[in-house]
Amino acid sequence: SLHIDGLIKSFPGLDGPVLRIDSLAFSPGDRVAVTGGSGSGKSTFINVVTGLERVTTGKVVWNGRDIARLSETSRDRWRAEHVGLVMQDFHLFPGLSAVENVLLPARLARVADAAMVTRAHELLKTVGLSRPDQKIETMSRGEMQRVAIARALLRKPGVIVADEPTASLDVEAGETVGRLLLDMAAETKSTLIVVSHDQRLTDRLDRRLTLRAGRIVADSMREGVAA
Ligand code: ATP
Ligand code: MG
Repeated sequence: SLHIDGLIKSFPGLDGPVLRIDSLAFSPGDRVAVTGGSGSGKSTFINVVTGLERVTTGKVVWNGRDIARLSETSRDRWRAEHVGLVMQDFHLFPGLSAVENVLLPARLARVADAAMVTRAHELLKTVGLSRPDQKIETMSRGEMQRVAIARALLRKPGVIVADEPTASLDVEAGETVGRLLLDMAAETKSTLIVVSHDQRLTDRLDRRLTLRAGRIVADSMREGVAA
């Protein structure tokens, strides 16, 4: 579960905070869409919730642990263990194959045992990729997106976060990727947080947060939240 309390994120040189959330809670298994216009704070929200960015003030409590209080090293370790991140630009490594990309973070964390190698191959099959040794740079965007998803799911994270996972995919590939994320989140009972403008995808999630100028102006589970 996630509980946010009194969160403010500011950047030096800017007038006001870019994100301000008084109180917000997610239950385990919540599937949450985050929407809002460009510059409304969606990526900042993802960044502070996953500990990629430090909060200015406030609490970000995952399963009783306030990650805002951790050192950067501890936050990185926590994220590697508990969060599956699918970034918009994938962050895949050219020169490496699909399966090597899926395994790389686990190898860096020195947790890639034989069982994990097997799971990496299984995940690639699940996401519909039949050539684990294909080099990243020879793949289509849709294929890369699937590698990024397989990598995010390798360690069965309790939290799956995806920033625009269907952007730049055609309708069919977008459908596949959306279904995959939902299936995987259900299988591992993970909290799923998806930033997306893709209504076909957001309509399948059970909760929608709308950000405007860094504030939550709508929450489908709590209609009428003040701006
Ligand atoms: P988009 O849909 O375009 O991706 P977004 O909703 O993800 O937009 P953010 O990237 O979270 O928006 O940015 C929110 C605001 O914070 C913007 O005004 C942006 O300029 C500002 N911002 C984000 N990162 C920084 C930074 N490192 N330094 C200063 N300002 C920043
Ligand atoms: Mg963004």
